Amino acid sequence: MKIVFASSEVFPFSKTGGLADVVGSLAKEMVKLNNDVIVITPYYKSVMENFPEIKNTEKKVWVDVPSGLLEFEIFTLKESGIEFVFFKNDELFLRNGFYNENGLDYQDNPVRFASFSMALMNYLKHHNINPDIIHCNDWQTSLIPVYHKSYFSDLKAKTILTIHNLAFQGIFDIDLKYIGLDDSFFDMEKLEFYGKINFLKGGIVYSDFITTVSPTYAEEIKTMEYGFRLDGLLRHYSHKLKGILNGIDYEYWNPLTDKYIYKNFDNHNDKKINKFKFTEHFELNNDYPLFVMVSRFTEQKGLNMILHLREKFSQLNASFIFLGDGTPEFNEKMKILEHINSNIRVILGYKEQLSHILYASSDFYLMPSVFEPCGLSQMIAMRYGSVPIVRKTGGLNDTVKDIAQNGYGFVFDEINSDALLSQINRALDYYNSNDISYLSEKVMKIDFSWKESAKKYVQLYLSLVNT
Ligand code: ADP
Repeated sequence: MKIVFASSEVFPFSKTGGLADVVGSLAKEMVKLNNDVIVITPYYKSVMENFPEIKNTEKKVWVDVPSGLLEFEIFTLKESGIEFVFFKNDELFLRNGFYNENGLDYQDNPVRFASFSMALMNYLKHHNINPDIIHCNDWQTSLIPVYHKSYFSDLKAKTILTIHNLAFQGIFDIDLKYIGLDDSFFDMEKLEFYGKINFLKGGIVYSDFITTVSPTYAEEIKTMEYGFRLDGLLRHYSHKLKGILNGIDYEYWNPLTDKYIYKNFDNHNDKKINKFKFTEHFELNNDYPLFVMVSRFTEQKGLNMILHLREKFSQLNASFIFLGDGTPEFNEKMKILEHINSNIRVILGYKEQLSHILYASSDFYLMPSVFEPCGLSQMIAMRYGSVPIVRKTGGLNDTVKDIAQNGYGFVFDEINSDALLSQINRALDYYNSNDISYLSEKVMKIDFSWKESAKKYVQLYLSLVNT
């Protein structure tokens, strides 16, 4: 099959979170399963600066917008058997951020990603790409199925939309002519959403199939509690909705070969050496268990529960490291946590290398998410022998089983800081009265690779192509 992935970010070129990891690693898996894979993504400023090996093809594609014609130059790079195609338009993408700067979203985001999506369709059509599947991801590429069904029905491809996080829908107060559509799309059955335009809704309505990133999340988003006002629509389209659990890239996230960590390992004895080195560097008590979190600092990730425990941390015989980034308010509050607790370190920013070191050094991994579509961090943590403490939601529910159920983690239900604290205490008790190496090695052995899930995607693609 020929598969085109459309994504606003893809690892290693651009990444703000799990979306980039998933597209990068799923594309690789599809190549391994003998598919022809093209990933199409914007040519951001940081891509231009960090990847000089990407070459100009001298091809171009144009999009009609109310002010004239927008030109995209086509750049490309072949890597791991994947053809990466970058669309370059400096007016839209030569900026310091991907979606925002200094905590503020770019005002023209709807036009940026609608134009990118339309350019992608024009590229497929005018350069005779003819894919079997166009796999779209999140709101940024959700208009592709709308354009496909409305203007490009001669392209035989089937469209899939993967929802990586329903909280982000691309809701804008914008005249439809700026995104290449006429007023007829301002309809409750189409893109209209409480008086505005909702990109993700368009993708849900017009795509041939919708996936989301874990089976539990596929059920949750059909409920009012997790549906972000799209639960009714998702219930309506539940016949074309399925949850397929994400995997992680087992070559990249491999403690035996990871070039960023101090000591490579496949057992707890060797893993421990990473903790020794690391706690020494950060002047933390090495006898204490080390709890870490690598995350966007947002409400979604349970940061309010953590902050609520601010006075409690110093009473615990444990060390904590939080690596992450969020709004200036969250960042500031997290820094205060560090100031009032000598056993806490807070590191702000996006730091890929440090994240590897933290996964490798930690005894426990904290992920008390309020909601979690899939979550990659807990799977990475487990691959690195770090025992998860999670809230029972979404992909966390599908990947972590409590030790009381013959499992290997600590799981709680209520969105409540006391519930989190009692799991931290449970983990501490476990650490003090058992040999943690048993649980650590147990989680290291669980298979979180793409193997099974990639096959499920292939089956889904085939079933769509054959209909
Ligand atoms: P989400 O996509 O909701 O942010 P996931 O758990 O699915 O959460 O994926 C997060 C990915 O981003 C993981 O690979 C994690 O290691 C990485 N990550 C998150 N925050 C940081 C950070 N501050 N520095 C380095 N890596 C980070």
